[in-house]
Amino acid sequence: MEARTRVITLDGSQARIVDIRANFGVGDTGLRVHGLNPVSRETRDRVRAAIRNSSLSWPEGVVHLTASTTHPRSDVDLAAATAALLVTKAVPARRLTATALIGELGLDGTVRPLPDVRTRAIAAAEGGFTHLVVPAANAAEAGLVPGLTIVPVACLDELVSWLRGGPTPAPRPESGDGASPTTSWAPEAWARLTPTAVRAAAVAAAGGHHTLHVAAPGTPVLLLPRLIRALMADLTDTEALEVSTWHFLADEPAPDRSEHHRPPGVPLLPDDTIAAVAGSLSRPGLLTLAHRGVLTVEDLPGLSTRIVEVLRPALENGVIGITAAAGAEARPAGARMVFTARDCLCGSVRTKNCRCTPAQRARYLARIPQWLLDRVDLFLREVTVAEPDPSLPSLESLRDSVARARERARYRWGAAPEPGAEIDYTKAVAGLPANAVGELDDAIRQGRITPRTAARCLRLAWTRADLDGRAHPDIADIWLTLSHRSGMLGLLRNPAPR
Ligand SMILES: [Zn+2]
Repeated sequence: MEARTRVITLDGSQARIVDIRANFGVGDTGLRVHGLNPVSRETRDRVRAAIRNSSLSWPEGVVHLTASTTHPRSDVDLAAATAALLVTKAVPARRLTATALIGELGLDGTVRPLPDVRTRAIAAAEGGFTHLVVPAANAAEAGLVPGLTIVPVACLDELVSWLRGGPTPAPRPESGDGASPTTSWAPEAWARLTPTAVRAAAVAAAGGHHTLHVAAPGTPVLLLPRLIRALMADLTDTEALEVSTWHFLADEPAPDRSEHHRPPGVPLLPDDTIAAVAGSLSRPGLLTLAHRGVLTVEDLPGLSTRIVEVLRPALENGVIGITAAAGAEARPAGARMVFTARDCLCGSVRTKNCRCTPAQRARYLARIPQWLLDRVDLFLREVTVAEPDPSLPSLESLRDSVARARERARYRWGAAPEPGAEIDYTKAVAGLPANAVGELDDAIRQGRITPRTAARCLRLAWTRADLDGRAHPDIADIWLTLSHRSGMLGLLRNPAPR
């Protein structure tokens, strides 16, 4: 099986049409670059991350990407991603017959602007293309060329939506409308989220809670952290300055102007070292770079015990201590964390092909230490559905609910809830109905939960009530949070057959 897409690249000032080919074969699930003229590894990594960050599932099998030039550049990303989606039948070919695509992908699925788009657009029109997909920020420049329909896309989801027959996205002003890549969401991708995932993301954003996502193979695991970030309010000027200072010290590229006030999103990958995660006196680590944002910890059970231990102070207090011969320093590390774990170890997308035994999966999940589970409040499995759900609230209305919930909490506790902040148990039970308090007291007395767990359940219950605009949590919230936690622990210890 082979698919082809076309891109206009620049060779000096000369525009040329380059073919990107994708082949699909059986084998390990993933994306490979080899063949005569492979696309670069950087393109592969960006395409892979962007697809996993979008609402799409990665198919079972392996995709090989090649280009009809020996020096493919980052401007082929969008065409490479589309070829991979085309060959795996995630998008139809119908709209691609006379379409060229240009754009570099960000790891989060955003489409970044490119230089000299007008030269490329002229080449596309002369080359007989009728449509040109361009980064949204380049739409005005590309639109100057007659005889070409411009399809501006801000993220991969928007392109997918158009390829599947959706309307052509309208050109947007470059700034001023407040929509940044992390706060915008293609309608089709939004409708495919599960209501549980949307609710969990709102709870995490409002209450500063940590989440564990046990994901089946092919599940887009970066979708939930992206959703949480989209629901979080913009940083204040002071906060944005603090965040950008840490990123500057770590030699991280400055975010786009539109992203400057957005909470950061940072991935922690299995091959990251302790020094990279914790940081040193001269260089902040990933935990600090994710401060005031979201840290995604992929394949938590696969991490070394030493790395997991590094996360402990951040989870407990929202800080990380750096000790070295030259001195010691406490750094902020208050990120909402999203931990992911695999629901299947053999990597079978289809349940009937799974060869894992429940004992193997239980052994793998048992690597998550109890102290960490004691600090995770939300537990999730499915994040997307095949059939769109029309009943989902809009992103804007959810963002409003999150902001109002944080305002209520700030009024009541004196500060909006942040990750790592402990709840004052006496204060937290003060506003509760007697039967709800009794339910918690019983659970503690019978040894079903520890006082610490009770405090976490209370915190979660308050966030739920604040999000719904209720004066206080009631006994149903307490039941729900207690059963959510026991359900999580039960499933981790005794995973049902897939
Ligand atoms: Zn399996």
